[in-house]
Amino acid sequence: TEACLTAIDGAGALGAFVHHTPEIAREQAKAADARLQAGDAPSMCGIPLGIKDLFCTKGVPSQAASGILKGFKPEYESTVSQNLFDAGAVMLGKLNMDEFAMGSSNETSVYGNAVNPWRRGNDEMALTPGGSSGGSASAVSADLCLGATGTDTGGSIRQPAAFTGITGIKPTYGRCSRWGIVAFASSLDQAGPMTKSVRDAAIMLEAMCSHDPKDSTSADIPVPDFEAMLTGDIRGKKIGIPKEYHMDGMPEEIETHWTQGKDMLADAGAEIVDISLPHTKYALPAYYVIAPAEASSNLARYDGVRYGHRAKLAQGDGITEMYEKTRAEGFGAEVQRRVMIGTYVLSAGFYDAYYNRARKVRALIKKDFEDVFDAGIDAILTPATPSAAFELGRKSDDPVEMYLNDVFTVTVNLAGLPGIAVPTGLNRNGLPLGLQLIGRPWEEGDLLNTAYALE
Ligand code: GLN
Repeated sequence: TEACLTAIDGAGALGAFVHHTPEIAREQAKAADARLQAGDAPSMCGIPLGIKDLFCTKGVPSQAASGILKGFKPEYESTVSQNLFDAGAVMLGKLNMDEFAMGSSNETSVYGNAVNPWRRGNDEMALTPGGSSGGSASAVSADLCLGATGTDTGGSIRQPAAFTGITGIKPTYGRCSRWGIVAFASSLDQAGPMTKSVRDAAIMLEAMCSHDPKDSTSADIPVPDFEAMLTGDIRGKKIGIPKEYHMDGMPEEIETHWTQGKDMLADAGAEIVDISLPHTKYALPAYYVIAPAEASSNLARYDGVRYGHRAKLAQGDGITEMYEKTRAEGFGAEVQRRVMIGTYVLSAGFYDAYYNRARKVRALIKKDFEDVFDAGIDAILTPATPSAAFELGRKSDDPVEMYLNDVFTVTVNLAGLPGIAVPTGLNRNGLPLGLQLIGRPWEEGDLLNTAYALE
């Protein structure tokens, strides 16, 4: 814990941590020591972590990287962070992210962007750590903590993990309680660990998962010992390679890297099978209807009354002006864009044309996956991202270009499946690349084991 606190102090330029909690960290570390001495060593005992700013942490600023939650200190702890603390983990502080987890580069944060530790040369442009869990990725990659919590609505754990050379898993929808995590798109949001290795991910994920009556979508199914399932034996497993993930214009290095991953799994004894997920091309448009629709509804609660920021009002202003001014000041541009898109697609005149159609597409995408799993496929191998980490500022003026980053990850959230990004090598410029494995629902243990063979 002390080593991490020192490293964090020296790494301010990364913009990874946005609230520091050294007192809490030292107190929790002492308690962990005491537990160890008493012969009680839970799985996360004394492990220093960073917590994404989207998680409510009791008495500690939890702003979802938004101006509208300025000064908000929750009275309660999220179930996932509480589970980690119960397992002995230590909180070093809160981590940077895109505002309300909307973004793929950490550039929509009210705190300013986080930086990817993989390139900080003087004349080279700094790179994004990805988003929305950019602070988590940057912190783990730069050894400021041993692991971090992330959340993933459309790729926000897997894309930043791939950009920074670390491991990140989004479990099956319902594995981790959403209680106390600021809601973005409730039918897609899941928490998960971001770590240096697959083994660490297995240990941390197990500590995060639980059935929680406070989240009606939390699943009441047993959480296995994921670490014990890491045998490295994947002989006879059927790995699907979906043809629709060969996207037009995808850089050569991504294709090559994907082939190398395929060869590694084949060498380990897996059977490689070409498969088709025919509705893949509709995933991104469906996601960018459904996610903003749910966001516009979830974000209605930020009204200047209940939490955080309230605009200064002029003489004669009423409640409508208070809402309007507060929300105009408190939300950044990307969040406002999502609220507008979401409100539009949910409006009476356009509901059927957009929102209902997107829901139907979502069902078809889910069915595509069910069909291949029913045909005996154990896991699906794809690239995690369409490119290596890009320069900060390069895509921030073009929302559609930014949204294209999520092309390989959003399908997994729409179908509620577990997906993991594993670092599998470097490109010509020495930047990390990652591959994604997608598994059957509730079979994170199996998925982690396949990832372990790829690591
Ligand atoms: N980049 C995607 C978006 O902006 C996904 C974000 C996320 O998973 N939280 O919506």
